Amino acid sequence: MPRFSLRRTAKRWHRTYREARMVALALKSPAHPVLAHVVVTRRCNLACTYCNEFDNFSQPVPTAELIHRIDLLAALRTTVITLTGGEPLLHPQLDEIIRSIRRRGIIAVLVTNGYLLTPDRIRGFNRAGLDRMQISVDNVLPDEASKKSLKVLDQKLRWLAEFAEFPVSIHSVVGAHTDRPEDALTIARRATELGLISTAGIVHDDSGRIEPLSPVHRRVLEQIEGLSKSRFSFARHNPWRANLVRGLLNDWHCTAGGRHLYICENGLVHYCLAQRGYPAVPLAQYTREDILRESKAPKSCTPYCTIFCVQRVAALDELRNSPRQALVRLFPAKNPETPAALPLPIRVLSALLLPSHDAPSGRFFRKAALRFLRID
Ligand code: SF4
Ligand code: SF4
Repeated sequence: MPRFSLRRTAKRWHRTYREARMVALALKSPAHPVLAHVVVTRRCNLACTYCNEFDNFSQPVPTAELIHRIDLLAALRTTVITLTGGEPLLHPQLDEIIRSIRRRGIIAVLVTNGYLLTPDRIRGFNRAGLDRMQISVDNVLPDEASKKSLKVLDQKLRWLAEFAEFPVSIHSVVGAHTDRPEDALTIARRATELGLISTAGIVHDDSGRIEPLSPVHRRVLEQIEGLSKSRFSFARHNPWRANLVRGLLNDWHCTAGGRHLYICENGLVHYCLAQRGYPAVPLAQYTREDILRESKAPKSCTPYCTIFCVQRVAALDELRNSPRQALVRLFPAKNPETPAALPLPIRVLSALLLPSHDAPSGRFFRKAALRFLRID
């Protein structure tokens, strides 16, 4: 289990404050990117057979160029930057890049396969101010498709549990064609045992189709969600994922290209990793008008999309645009006669920040909350 320390506790409260501020900004204004993924190198030390996001030869993006891109994202008022690859730990100055994200008041997240983690690198991330880390673990034992295995990574997870002063999410996936769905549950249980966060996503089959999950696969997903101690987890309340689990297509509006940006190694803006090539405009030329236009642009890929982080951003936009309908959609009542019980963090945020609560006392508390979060 992670050790208790005053420094960890202080960091946790500070992070909670900055994340609440990020949510409040997203609810207040539609004109900035909530989240940007930034590729720091295309190269990877592994070669998962399902992956088309890596090569084995690219040089890291020069640090000065990455810091310039972070400046451009800060100028667009981006609130979260996730460093990705390839494998970001192959970048020799990753700590400096994380530091420069934090210096600009942006939340810093890192996605890694975990292979190159050591206690020293984890301590370096603590000092640099990393806010969150995500590691995907594909199976319990390595196989032909993937070496991202619990057996290989368990020591790294133990080091993270011992040394990391930031939350670590261990992500596993389940799909209709996953042969060993119980692997995802074993991975999630191990993560929870170590005091880390476990999350699970669903995957398409090889042809990009979504098929309903079998009762066994569904039970695995439910059991993984049941391990979460968090008062609110978007995975538990994601209406789009719930439909895909049943093999149903989704009707939602994706705001990628505006509220979510994917910045490739060449500094071009794309919708997301699955939709590279659109709009493929250099970040240096990307403006507020581009953000607003691309946020509104319809995307034909929405019915099948399984990109969880973009859906989370879209849920915030639904809350901003039509709070009451969004709350009903995200938290459907079990019984049509009784309104659904909202989780505590959602009750607090919606009471303080959503314009549907427009009584004079609501306006007073909203103003006070915005002042506390330093939002004009
Ligand atoms: S570790 Fe990640 S980036 Fe590397 S090949 Fe596997 S899925 Fe792709
Ligand atoms: S719907 Fe999904 S795949 Fe399509 S652009 Fe949005 S995030 Fe990307």
